[in-house]
Amino acid sequence: MSLTIMRRIKFCAGHRLFKHGGKCEHFHGHNYVADFFVTGDTQDTVGRVMDFADLKSKCKGWLDENWDHSFLVLDQDDNAIEALRMVKPSRLFLMPYNPTAENMARYLLEEVCPKILEDTGATATRVRIWETDESYAEACIDERTGLVMSSYDADSSDR
Ligand SMILES: [Zn+2]
Repeated sequence: MSLTIMRRIKFCAGHRLFKHGGKCEHFHGHNYVADFFVTGDTQDTVGRVMDFADLKSKCKGWLDENWDHSFLVLDQDDNAIEALRMVKPSRLFLMPYNPTAENMARYLLEEVCPKILEDTGATATRVRIWETDESYAEACIDERTGLVMSSYDADSSDR
């Protein structure tokens, strides 16, 4: 048996989608919501997978330091990188793939969570990024098939 808990963290960030061809290739931002789903096989003496306060401080700590009030851009997007570096001060976070909600969820799940949850005995199995109230993308680790990405849009409106 495994038990799962979830902590929601809100942050705001700017991005643009490289070579999107639509309005998302312009600089813009979102009030993002990140849902971190964390699973453990064991409970501590109190009965917890892990302390919610601890989970919050680890997830929020990383987001505050790296993505909150930053611009997320693809590391090959030289034009955006050059423009953002001209602004002083500015916060820039280079992504190894286009900074879509899907890829942001994937980055948190694959790159960030293993580091911040090290030594907690718990593992992140799903990260959901809400880009609006109506739409999210999620990355989840399936024990048999590996990484699975999916998305949800209440009315299929564009982003
Ligand atoms: Zn956007």
